[in-house]
Amino acid sequence: MAADLKYRRVLLKISGEALMGSREGGLDPDFVARIADEIGAVHALGAEISLVIGGGNIFRGVSGAAAGMERASADYIGMLATVINSLAMQNALEERQVATRVQSAITMQSVCEPYIRRRALRHLEKGRVVIFAAGTGNPFFTTDTAAALRASEMGCHALLKATKVDGVYDADPHRVAGASRFDRLDYRDVLARDLQVMDASAIALARENDIPILVFSIFEAGGFARVVRGEGRYTIIDGKGLLRE
Ligand code: UDP
Repeated sequence: MAADLKYRRVLLKISGEALMGSREGGLDPDFVARIADEIGAVHALGAEISLVIGGGNIFRGVSGAAAGMERASADYIGMLATVINSLAMQNALEERQVATRVQSAITMQSVCEPYIRRRALRHLEKGRVVIFAAGTGNPFFTTDTAAALRASEMGCHALLKATKVDGVYDADPHRVAGASRFDRLDYRDVLARDLQVMDASAIALARENDIPILVFSIFEAGGFARVVRGEGRYTIIDGKGLLRE
């Protein structure tokens, strides 16, 4: 079945906010469950899946810094928030009989494995979903950059960015009527037009390692499965040439 897949080994980046549903913060079990269902369906297709989950539903370093905390300390709290989300997703996946391993960039040996690249690769080969927690392990970075870094290290065929909408728009389609959607973009378009897809260091890493970024909606049932088959609605960002103005 894996033969039907256009992108067999993928890394899915989910923002922390996707897990909070309509709550103000924290986790909404229904939303965690919905996303776990989507991941389980793709796992059943034979894809090798790794995940990076943000922490914005719990704590964001910049907000802590804005409130007067030292930025690096605030960022460590943010990284710990991603571990909470990763453990919640691990639990939801295992309820669905999907074998998983959490690997953290900050060692926490009684809770999860440390990040070890070769070991993570082996888990993927054995069909386990690997959840990369604690971002890059460094302050002043984001989980977008962690996603591009781990996708590069794992030799992923694509980096999937789960959002609330079906691709990249020139303005927020929930706020701006008539915002236009792109089917395809070059990495350079995203940087030059300052499109808010992922941060610039994530885009630069993906570009350097020639990993296409696929932006799609995680809230459309079956959306993740369609994207790994190269079907459905998503924006692809790669290095195949700039759009003309
Ligand atoms: N963070 C960090 N280094 C990393 C990844 C994350 O310091 O490599 C911290 C940073 O404070 C960030 C927080 O963890 O604000 C949560 O991650 P992020 O904001 O990327 O989550 P998302 O917006 O995807 O929910």
